[in-house]
Amino acid sequence: MTNTVTSFSTLGLAPELLRALTESGYTTPTPIQAQAIPVALSGADLMAGAQTGTGKTAAFSLPILQKLLPLSNNSTSPAKHSIRALILTPTRELAIQVEESVKTYAKHTMLRSLVVFGGVDIKTQTPSLKAGVEVLVATPGRLLDHVEQKTLQLNQVQMLILDEADRMLDMGFMPDLKRILALLPKQRQNLMFSATFSNEIKKLADDFLTKPQLIEVARSNATNDNVTQKVYSVEQSDKEVFLTQLLHEENAKQVIIFTKTKLAASRLSRSLTRAGIAADAIHGDKTQQERIKALDAFKAGTVTALVATDVAARGLDISELPMVINYEIPTAPEDYVHRIGRTGRAGALGIAISLVCKEEEKYLAEIEKLIKRQINKEVAVVEKPIRRARGTSYGDKTAEDNMPRRAPAKRMSDDPWFYKPYEPSGMSASTIKPLPQTALQKKKPVAALLGGLFK
Ligand code: AMP
Repeated sequence: MTNTVTSFSTLGLAPELLRALTESGYTTPTPIQAQAIPVALSGADLMAGAQTGTGKTAAFSLPILQKLLPLSNNSTSPAKHSIRALILTPTRELAIQVEESVKTYAKHTMLRSLVVFGGVDIKTQTPSLKAGVEVLVATPGRLLDHVEQKTLQLNQVQMLILDEADRMLDMGFMPDLKRILALLPKQRQNLMFSATFSNEIKKLADDFLTKPQLIEVARSNATNDNVTQKVYSVEQSDKEVFLTQLLHEENAKQVIIFTKTKLAASRLSRSLTRAGIAADAIHGDKTQQERIKALDAFKAGTVTALVATDVAARGLDISELPMVINYEIPTAPEDYVHRIGRTGRAGALGIAISLVCKEEEKYLAEIEKLIKRQINKEVAVVEKPIRRARGTSYGDKTAEDNMPRRAPAKRMSDDPWFYKPYEPSGMSASTIKPLPQTALQKKKPVAALLGGLFK
């Protein structure tokens, strides 16, 4: 189906909703919105394949609000504000963002929304729940906690939305989902959104949806054409140095850097900070407050580099994020699609750079197979810092040790070598690779990285 809808008003949305969309600066429905909104308004079940950044949140939020409008009221009685729509998301961050969107679109209605997620004191969520809300956004575990504490009722739910269903399965939410579904009225509308269509997702759709209409706005597992993808071949032990160099050279102002593990995210964030780059990490071991703080600082521009694991970054919507770097490429190729979907959103241009070492080449091949395209590759030119002291060869150290550091004052005073002028003739051919003709080479070398501070 091609997208011929050029305005929201032709989709039959209520004036209250249209006003909110205009105020948000939306003029034209995105393809997923143009296709999903009429289906959802018709009451049919829906299985939609839409990659991140396509506008899928509005694609399900607007029909929910439109359908609930007749029930909107300003009564103070909780009984008049039963949960009618339940939106489940895999991560807290996504839950928060989805609910923010729902609130924005609902701002000229009397419909109430709320988000509940784990990692914060459950008691703080109870008063708002008890006051009553029509649209509840939740992560599965915390929803079940509330069910157990009898702080909410799900027997009036008319619409269930599974957002990022593929990730919910990856994260092992299936048992929780089954428990939740058993608590919902049988008569309801189900909308399922997934960036990828694996066999497991198709099975989930068979189990939970009734005669769903299938919508796919882009080839499943496709990457966004707005994103320029690039691979640098670089040894694992050189990645930190190269990354720092790249961030300086590209003059990166806002970049998400992906690592595979929480530990790697924390370490890399610390190393970047030491190298003079405002960085913070966001991963599952951080408290909710820490994650929100890091995300806010990133959005505000006080943090340049947000180092994240896949789970934490899932669903983050940072408008016009210009760059994503895969410090380590994911072993599951679908994660690559999700990661680079953080950039080039809603029509903006983006850059996605992957640092790939020999051991990761097999994963890169899997990714290229999945996205059905070859990614432009270049060998990284690593401008290694000249560290001649103490005899340890650079490559022998751990990745963290390899980070260029500013010379601590104390160390400078106890080794006379540091007082000697800089002597380029001391470079051995093996420590300094010749600089080939790349964009990186043409740019100004970064003194702090090259040992300039040691002079
Ligand atoms: P989503 O895929 O729902 O996370 O949306 C990605 C981004 O696109 C969000 O920042 C939305 O605010 C924005 N967006 C969604 N729909 C539209 C639209 N029709 N016009 C312009 N921006 C939109």
